[in-house]
Amino acid sequence: MSIIDGKAISGQIRLGLTEKVAKLKEEGITPGLAVVLVGDDPASAIYVRYKEQACTDTGLYSEVHRLDAATTQETLLSLVERLNTDDKIHGILVQLPLPNHIDEMAILRAINPDKDVDGFHVINAGKLFVGEKGFVACTAKGIITLIKSTGIDITGKTAVVVGRSNIVGKPVSMLLMEQNATVTMCHSRTRDLAKVCAGADILVAAIGRPEMITGEYVKQGAIVIDVGTSRVDGKLKGDVLFSEAEKKAAFITPVPGGVGPMTITMLLENTVEAAKIHG
Ligand code: NDP
Repeated sequence: MSIIDGKAISGQIRLGLTEKVAKLKEEGITPGLAVVLVGDDPASAIYVRYKEQACTDTGLYSEVHRLDAATTQETLLSLVERLNTDDKIHGILVQLPLPNHIDEMAILRAINPDKDVDGFHVINAGKLFVGEKGFVACTAKGIITLIKSTGIDITGKTAVVVGRSNIVGKPVSMLLMEQNATVTMCHSRTRDLAKVCAGADILVAAIGRPEMITGEYVKQGAIVIDVGTSRVDGKLKGDVLFSEAEKKAAFITPVPGGVGPMTITMLLENTVEAAKIHG
């Protein structure tokens, strides 16, 4: 069994990005990311700090707009509009979840698709669906990079994705299909989930149920990607019961240190790409 070291892979990609950013700066372009955080969700605040730090480390310009939980939808929309036309800003990220009184989809739709470095805008989701180039959701893009890092050819492999969210499950399924895997998408209504998963050469767990994927879900020799991040007694837990899955998997991502670092790295990559295209 080999561990897929997301932290190390991420570090290598960030080195390359730092060089790209330096070159862009010589051409007079500093890639810029605006992050918008509404409310005081502690997990979101931590993610935003990581993103800010990653931008600084890679040489990107970043600004964080921290708004009160009571911020109205109109105020948030006008901020997004302002960022849409701000030349310093190449990428806009609105940290989810938003407070209940705000229509999340309306905010995501308001972001200029050319600055939608999270890949959540319907235009970018649609482009992924029809196979056109656009911004791809960062976690999904990171997962494919991790799978490719194993050197195993995805073509013809049986892939099972557990979870069908717009931000992970659906985009990762599309990307796996694009790479010629035979993909099964599972969710809370899937019958015999363990049996379906046990047929997977590539198993992606994006559920949010700590350690639900036990050894019986894992095929001997499979690639197992654990997206889940749940806090249990102050500790971060994945969706996969690592101690059992590692006995059967050929490659497996740890939590933490697997998918998490890749998500932020892909955000940086998308922002640099946006700056390259739209300067
Ligand atoms: P969602 O809650 O949006 O989706 C969870 C999915 O899991 C749903 O499709 C749901 O099915 C399915 N599900 C729930 N319970 C079961 C079950 N018992 N059996 C089978 N399927 C089930 O979560 P996200 O996609 O946003 O995130 C998933 C996990 O990944 C979370 O732990 C999250 O924190 C983590 N995450 C990690 C990231 C990272 O960078 N490491 C980035 C994004 C997310 P149904 O649709 O039927 O309800």
